[in-house]
Amino acid sequence: MARVERPKGGPDGATAPPPAPDNPWARSLWLEGVVQDLTPRERLSGDHTCDVAIVGAGFGGLWTAYYLKKADPSLRVTVVEAEIAGFGAAGRNGGFVSAGIAGSAARYARRSGWDSVLRAEREVHHGIDEIGRVVALEGIDCGYNKAGALTVATTEPQLQRLRARVEAKHRSGLGPEDIRLLTADESADLVRGPEGLLGASFTPHCARVDPARLARGLATACERLGVKIYEQSPAEHLGPNVVQCSDGRISADVVVRATESYTIRERGQRRRFLPLYSLVIATEPLPQQAWDELGWRDGLGFADLGHLYYYAQRSVDGRIVVGGRGAPYRLTRPISPENEQDAHVYERLVQTLRAAIPAAADARITHHWGGPLAVPRDWCMTTTFDRATGLGFVGAFGGHGVTAANISGRTMRDLVLGRSTDLTSLPWVGHRTRNWEPEPLRFIASRLIHKTLASADAYEERTGKQAKRVRLVAPFLPPS
Ligand SMILES: Cc1cc2nc3c(=O)[nH]c(=O)nc-3n(C[C@H](O)[C@H](O)[C@H](O)COP(=O)(O)OP(=O)(O)OC[C@H]3O[C@@H](n4cnc5c(N)ncnc54)[C@H](O)[C@@H]3O)c2cc1C
Repeated sequence: MARVERPKGGPDGATAPPPAPDNPWARSLWLEGVVQDLTPRERLSGDHTCDVAIVGAGFGGLWTAYYLKKADPSLRVTVVEAEIAGFGAAGRNGGFVSAGIAGSAARYARRSGWDSVLRAEREVHHGIDEIGRVVALEGIDCGYNKAGALTVATTEPQLQRLRARVEAKHRSGLGPEDIRLLTADESADLVRGPEGLLGASFTPHCARVDPARLARGLATACERLGVKIYEQSPAEHLGPNVVQCSDGRISADVVVRATESYTIRERGQRRRFLPLYSLVIATEPLPQQAWDELGWRDGLGFADLGHLYYYAQRSVDGRIVVGGRGAPYRLTRPISPENEQDAHVYERLVQTLRAAIPAAADARITHHWGGPLAVPRDWCMTTTFDRATGLGFVGAFGGHGVTAANISGRTMRDLVLGRSTDLTSLPWVGHRTRNWEPEPLRFIASRLIHKTLASADAYEERTGKQAKRVRLVAPFLPPS
């Protein structure tokens, strides 16, 4: 490829992380890309009444508003957002509209049976197409492109895990048309990437999007249907029939919480989620010659099977976006702009880019950002609605909320409208999770997990053997 001069600086010759942008709303490459449209909407002030009030304008809140209003245009639906629509994880993520259920298949099966888990897997596949359908219908220009995803193995233990994972999916009822193993040569037809590739799995069920354009476009689509969105209006209290903001108040029959990781900032909610950050880097746009050399099929996502895994997407404007590899949880101010960059994680992501995609090794890194995930104690997502109080909840998606939030939005529509459907009997509907351990136990545990997983990856790369130490932290991770 055309090599790009890279100024040397950091420990491994990497540059220091690029500075965060000045515009406070441009918290990711994606949000920066729609920066001209980020002027906040009107704030909530005074007293209002509506049928359904939704708190949080990420994917969970916006899909809920969209489907409710579509199903019953006479409903008065209002969304209040603390910052701007798409400000949270929705506008900062890796852009994988991916397959795989958000949470632990084994835990869902324990509660609802394996048939229900298979139904959930199929619903996720459908959800990917459903997002594509709405994107086309509403004319949302977000680069939706469904070309599947590759999971690569570059060590013998990763290959063993890959085979076990594909076999487990087949045992659960999915077929080779849903997920299959590829040899290293076969996967090179999709992308000539990782050095030392031993094998891969491929699923056609994955699309690539620019997530901020999707979130912002969805907000506009909601408004066209008649949903009212207030921005810069943090809810200070939400309860049965009421959402209280500093300058305004909404009375509503139904109140839906879609505040994801930010929920922990409220009194009494601190232990509900582990607010883990996930960090990302993006290169400058690569020249066409580089893409030809890489042979990376447009729209295809790829990831590895490290314990602290990475994922990489080819962006709409021809950049490589790499995220993952874990990020340390902080005891004080667990959700804060300070957590959106980290020199060590940045360095690891740059090294990952160079090793995984050598043809792009010299590309300049133009962006580094991060966002908070809501990790529940059992890693299982939740959609709940209590008809008696009118309170609903969508979220607990961990790192898999892009497709899951669409499913949750349609499910919440059915729950609110009193419909009993295939969606309302999915295994996460009505699911309850216990709280995380109190601090400092949660902090110590999360640091221990991070260190153990990082050292397990290093051991496996060095020795080619499975790292048994991962079993030590298994009680805190989702069972496979
Ligand atoms: C770096 C990163 C990479 C990721 N990659 C992927 C991926 O590739 N694929 C995938 O499926 N998932 C991915 N995820 C996870 C995914 O982004 C989330 O699961 C999803 O966006 C959650 O959507 P949400 O609407 O529930 O939460 P959010 O997008 O976080 O939205 C919550 C909203 O609520 C607002 N809010 C909070 N409190 C209040 C309040 N009191 N009053 C009013 N508003 C409030 C917030 O400002 C925010 O806008 C990633 C996440 C991150 C951070």
